[in-house]
Amino acid sequence: MDRHPHALVIPFPAQGHVAPLMKLSLQIAAHGVKVTFVNTEFIHEKIMVSVPEKAEGRSLISLASLPDGLELEDDRTDYAKLIESVRRTMPGYLEDFILKINQSNINEKISCVIADTSVGWALEVAKKVGIEAVAVWPAGGPCLALALHVPQLLEAEIIDHDGTVMKDEPISVSKDVPAWSRSEIGWGSSDPVMQKVLLEFYSIVPEYAKFYDWILCNSVYELDSAALKLIPNILPVGPLLASNYLGTFAGNFWPEDSTCIEWLDKQTSSSVIYVAFGSTTMANMEQLEELALGLELTGHPFLWVVRSDFMDGSLAKFPDGFINRVAKRAKFVEWAPQEKVLAHPSVACFMSHCGWNSTMEGLSMGIPFLCWPYFADQFCNKNYICDVWKIGLGLAKGASGIVTRHEISTKIKTLLSSDAIKANALHIKELARKSFNEGGSSFKNFNNFIEHIKSL
Ligand code: UDP
Repeated sequence: MDRHPHALVIPFPAQGHVAPLMKLSLQIAAHGVKVTFVNTEFIHEKIMVSVPEKAEGRSLISLASLPDGLELEDDRTDYAKLIESVRRTMPGYLEDFILKINQSNINEKISCVIADTSVGWALEVAKKVGIEAVAVWPAGGPCLALALHVPQLLEAEIIDHDGTVMKDEPISVSKDVPAWSRSEIGWGSSDPVMQKVLLEFYSIVPEYAKFYDWILCNSVYELDSAALKLIPNILPVGPLLASNYLGTFAGNFWPEDSTCIEWLDKQTSSSVIYVAFGSTTMANMEQLEELALGLELTGHPFLWVVRSDFMDGSLAKFPDGFINRVAKRAKFVEWAPQEKVLAHPSVACFMSHCGWNSTMEGLSMGIPFLCWPYFADQFCNKNYICDVWKIGLGLAKGASGIVTRHEISTKIKTLLSSDAIKANALHIKELARKSFNEGGSSFKNFNNFIEHIKSL
């Protein structure tokens, strides 16, 4: 019997990492490679509870799970604890898992491990058992260039080992890539524990770089070339979208509420403000109130994703009378089928925290952005959206650190009346589309990658 190519894919256990690696996996599987996708047991449970029974594409891959080393009752949003435990315990579990598969199934041996850079130790495990290792960076090119630059920043004492920026000047990786100010650096945080955790997502890349031969990223060469040119062995294969393999399954941690699509069907073309801040961003009560009143002031219909854990320690409580006043033009969901929402003709703009996945999804659908970055790489992504691609506007915080209702309504009006931003958004959409279509740069990179996996 012929040998069948088999890739094992392993993400970091967070929504913004699982989703792009799942989309990549489904695309790989659609090209005839067997894929085993390994989550932690905790994340596996979440996905199985949320997955629609008939999710298209789900059957293309095998889902597996390994323990993360924590107890059931431990808090997995404590990333310092999670990262420490995963790094200490999972390499052993992964090695055993691979060896077991490879001993029991001679014709479908795992021939390639495709690992999120945030679990770089999995690349080392692959090499240890003699298997090809490929890394995936789930964010944008500029931040990857920055990650690979961390050893030089430490060496030059521009940052210390806790990630604190020691010099009062912007951090630059090349004259052609916008520099990072102290407040925008991807690991910067007022909480020193969080800063160390965020720094780990960057410093782990150069730490394990010797173990991978290629590094894939969810980007498009034409959109990001100045940064991508700086990165050895990079293969941009974006945009990674569920629609690329005509599926719906993307490893969501919450069930998608598709009633919003029926609601969007009833709205007029390019009228709806879509408001969604990814999987981890939280708001305080004062900010929630200003956001609600700002959306009300615009007079536009809006679709707002309010996750059950969106509020910082409390339940979302909207201003008095707000829900009644906006009832005829507002829709609230806990989790939306985001790609479908962004592709819907009723959507006019995307109020976003600028997570990389949301950024790639919004730009692939040609939707102008209203940017509200919160932490990590989101400030850099916002700068690309507003200043490099010119497909959005940023929201400014007032003196008290709150974005006011007037700032929100004014910026939305300015954004929706800007023909230049709309034209740029369509141009960028076209670049992304061309790149992924036959003959485009991501298409070629992806196909070369598939050929390589099949040849192993
Ligand atoms: N997402 C979704 N429904 C929602 C909100 C978000 O499917 O209601 C998806 C979104 O499409 C993206 C991911 O969740 O793929 C969020 O990733 P991103 O990098 O934008 O942000 P993060 O959650 O990592 O902060």
